[in-house]
Amino acid sequence: MKKSIPIIVISIIAVLIVAYFIFNYTVEKITEREVKRITQGEIDKATGSEIGRLTKEITDKILGGGTTDQALKEVNCDNIPTQRKFSNSPYYSGPLIDDHLHMPFTFKVSPEIYAQADWDAPILEVEVLAGNIICDFDKEKTSNAFGFYVVPSLLKGQTVQLIKQVEQQYPGRIIPFLMPAHVSGFDLGADDAEDVLDSNKGLFKGFGEIAFYKGSYKGVSPDDPALLEIYKIADKYNLIVMIHPDDGQKQAIEKVLQENPNVKFLFHGDQAEIWIIDILNKYPNAYYSVDSNLFDIPNEYTIANIYGPEKEEFISELRDNFDKILKINLDIWKPRIEKYPDRFLWGTDRAWDWHFDPEVGALLEEMSRSFIGQLDPAVQEKFAYQNAERMIAER
Ligand SMILES: [Zn+2]
Repeated sequence: MKKSIPIIVISIIAVLIVAYFIFNYTVEKITEREVKRITQGEIDKATGSEIGRLTKEITDKILGGGTTDQALKEVNCDNIPTQRKFSNSPYYSGPLIDDHLHMPFTFKVSPEIYAQADWDAPILEVEVLAGNIICDFDKEKTSNAFGFYVVPSLLKGQTVQLIKQVEQQYPGRIIPFLMPAHVSGFDLGADDAEDVLDSNKGLFKGFGEIAFYKGSYKGVSPDDPALLEIYKIADKYNLIVMIHPDDGQKQAIEKVLQENPNVKFLFHGDQAEIWIIDILNKYPNAYYSVDSNLFDIPNEYTIANIYGPEKEEFISELRDNFDKILKINLDIWKPRIEKYPDRFLWGTDRAWDWHFDPEVGALLEEMSRSFIGQLDPAVQEKFAYQNAERMIAER
């Protein structure tokens, strides 16, 4: 009898180990099969009823689920201010609000699933720590940022958990915007969005970025009925709407601005640049973000831009062409910003893993402050942070 107890215990453990491996193997197989099924051609065809078939188990395995229930990882910030590499003068040294920051994913995602959005985002608290983003902000004297958090419809409960944790630990530093996944079947519909907003009252201050040039939004018009519903929700919950229009969408954008006079719309991107002055002139609820353009020469495809290559290449090419890039962008943007000083906002468009590197942050900061320093002194603070602050306050 005494001898049989350890034998029973050992047998149970052995059975459990075998069961564990069988379970994992099965889930892996299901995952592989499901990933294959929804990828590429299939993903475009995914319909509501098909999506309903994805059980929570499969969703979690494919998307990985929320990243953590634990506290945010501790970061020891050395708080050493960034060092300038150039000596442009006058130089803006006041506060900054980054109005265009893509936050790392708060969930794990299979690259196959996210291929449609063509978006290689890092994972928060795994590849990029919230504490390090805030540490970079402190070094750069960036007070806060409009932070675009992707919330896939199927994970809307789990992903918000980490967003709340960031807000609790660093209140007001990342101003949360609710961003759709840009992947068919995973985008927040009006009902999903309302669900998230109702269960997290006051957390989100904006909706977007909605990028009409990519992923599941490619070919969709900004005045599509489903989106008109989203703007109604933005009005109801006092959200700024951030849109990157595609080519040929000016008319639809005008309709959207006219029909939603109480909603503030923030635009960016080359496709909007060509008509933005006309739109700012006609619609008081339109704003424009000047961000990644500042680190590149427009229509010049040899010098690396922020979405180009590797970190090292970007750094060395931005440094080698610093004054040239600065001058070209001042020629383009200074007259526009000074003509509509209350309607342009500064940003970076950071999104990828290496964009959160302190060396990259310091260079983006230096280019931005050199640029802002050359604007009319009466306009500098408006562009650098006050317009962003006002947009949030006057929602
Ligand atoms: Zn963006």
